[in-house]
Amino acid sequence: MSAPPSPSPARPALSAPARALRKLGLVRDIDLALHLPLRYEDETRLVPIAALHDGEHAQVQGVVRDARIETRSRRQLVVWLADASGELVLRFLHFYPSQQRQMGAGRLLRVLGEVRAGLLGREMVHPTVRAVAPDTPLPSALTPVYPASAQLPQAYLRKAVEAALARAPLAALWPDALLPPELAALPSLRDALQMLHHPVPGQPLAALEDRSHPAWQRLKFEELLAQQLAQGQAQSARAALRAPALAARSGALYDALAAALPFRLTAAQRRVAAEIERDLARAQPMHRLLQGDVGSGKTVVAALAAARAIDAGWQCALMAPTELLAEQHLRKLVDWLRPLGVQVAWLSGSRKGRARAEALAQVASGAAALVVGTHAVIQRDVVFARLGLAVVDEQHRFGVAQRLALRDKLDQQQLEPHLLMMSATPIPRTLAMSYFADLDVSTIDELPPGRKPVVTRLFGEDKRAQVVARIRDELAAGAARQVYWVCPLVEESEHVDLQNATATHAELAAALPGTAVGLLHGRLGAAEKAAVMARFTCGELRVLVATTVIEVGVDVPAASLMVIEHAERFGLAQLHQLRGRVGRGAAASVCVLLYAAPLSATAKQRLRAMTETSDGFEIARRDLALRGPGEFMGARQSGDALLRFADIDGDAALLDAARALAPRLLREQPEAAAAHVQRWLGGRAEFMKA
Ligand code: ADP
Ligand code: MG
Repeated sequence: MSAPPSPSPARPALSAPARALRKLGLVRDIDLALHLPLRYEDETRLVPIAALHDGEHAQVQGVVRDARIETRSRRQLVVWLADASGELVLRFLHFYPSQQRQMGAGRLLRVLGEVRAGLLGREMVHPTVRAVAPDTPLPSALTPVYPASAQLPQAYLRKAVEAALARAPLAALWPDALLPPELAALPSLRDALQMLHHPVPGQPLAALEDRSHPAWQRLKFEELLAQQLAQGQAQSARAALRAPALAARSGALYDALAAALPFRLTAAQRRVAAEIERDLARAQPMHRLLQGDVGSGKTVVAALAAARAIDAGWQCALMAPTELLAEQHLRKLVDWLRPLGVQVAWLSGSRKGRARAEALAQVASGAAALVVGTHAVIQRDVVFARLGLAVVDEQHRFGVAQRLALRDKLDQQQLEPHLLMMSATPIPRTLAMSYFADLDVSTIDELPPGRKPVVTRLFGEDKRAQVVARIRDELAAGAARQVYWVCPLVEESEHVDLQNATATHAELAAALPGTAVGLLHGRLGAAEKAAVMARFTCGELRVLVATTVIEVGVDVPAASLMVIEHAERFGLAQLHQLRGRVGRGAAASVCVLLYAAPLSATAKQRLRAMTETSDGFEIARRDLALRGPGEFMGARQSGDALLRFADIDGDAALLDAARALAPRLLREQPEAAAAHVQRWLGGRAEFMKA
């Protein structure tokens, strides 16, 4: 889709900080009022210089006795400040001429910074400095410090929040009498926010900073309440929707498929399949996330669900984020279902002209019971006869709008299809709750039997020749092994990606005479990609050099060695996904992570995590710890989260109270409930629907 035309020239351009605010989702006054400080600075009192302690963060006031630029070790501005009790050195390694003038001898300065022991006695390095008059009053409240950036300076943010706090409608929306007494005694939302932005001295700072203060309790409770209300609203909205009830019928496609499978389902697969079936049998649309580690066997669960839909006389659509992955699904599903008489239609961006027209006709007439494809499945001209079930693989790769588009495919009949989303990146339950208002989760927590764990090894880039030699030895020894060589990801440059992959392909082909080495990259057309993949799948190609196009879902059981070049450039989830391409067959598998030094601290932790565990849930936990929830979820901004302050694990008592109050408010005071959700989650309504 093309971008909309640029905004009309009549609208004045936003300033850079205003744009930065917007990007953070800080649009309404209430959004700014709910944007809380990271910490505080105490500018309410002055400490005599003689009473300062090393390591203390403190404010002093004194007269400049001397100020000089020294050049001995490196050029720096050194200022001697004196009060009645003693002397302090201020040191500036970077400074402007204006600062130098501001701190001339004889000036009275108010200085805030961290005290440390220096060569010349106590000193502060780069303190915050303000020229004052002898009668300049001290502020009466602590000074908030907000998360700021170059685009969004602290001073701008302070002013914006201050103004918004004064304007924001913060009146109570429902009577506190509905709360248990200990919560009813908490400060009102208005008082709590006033307190948190501008705490008066005497408040326990520690309780403010560790978020146990009553003001924080109020905020967390109201946030949890908003989340519970949104969940309740989403649930009742869904209950009001109708979907075709896809009840089980014995002796049909489902049983034939189950009988024809070349393996026994794992207990976990049987459990999640039953959960899905229960949902499908209802006349309300299913909205379920199926999560399971790479290789845990989600596809067959989806196929069984599809069989249910088809048995009941409805169509099933399966959508995958890349053509390669969609095609793998197609091949597998065709293998399983076509012998049982199911007609499958294939829709992808590269399928055009007559072939596409024919596929569309089959979808529209209902002749195709199963429709597999990429985004092409949700194009406007795709009309389903009777879409009963939509399956979205690797759901995090699709935007909210795309998932909604899929659900809208049934609109003509006032029915919604059931929706099954699949993900190989397990979302911790608490995180799922804080991001999705209404989503049921099924988890496959077991791999099919006989899988051997993949051994993961780290090698510096200087060992590259050794790694290549090892591949040569193994292949020459006649071992029935196949090798993936994954090429580095170069940020925003498909062209450089391609050059690297091409060079590596040439290097390996030269180093491995007599071995067929293939090359797979994003610039190949769909048919070429499929051809290369097919030659690798059947074993004709023993080595496949690939860019990250193989990242998701590719399934070649004979591949038992993977080399990932510049592994330090990949994210943890991505490395885990890539590694999941090996270890799928009977052979013991190895994953070699080649890295280029020096490694950043987080890159080191990512690579270490890869060698320490192959459990997708553990990887997800570590990834979450390294990246934080916003990035982990791929959310556009942290403002997308339903929960920013409360923590479902840590604030269990508040959550219980919110759970108790939410249904009552929804029932007895629906306007208050709606206003509360609007206040807290306002612009995020779109996100909550999905
Ligand atoms: P993922 O969950 O990563 O999408 P797949 O559905 O691609 O995993 O399954 C991985 C491989 O395991 C496939 O080759 C699939 O046929 C096979 N498989 C799935 N379930 C079982 C099972 N119960 N026993 C043995 N192999 C299975
Ligand atoms: Mg898969």
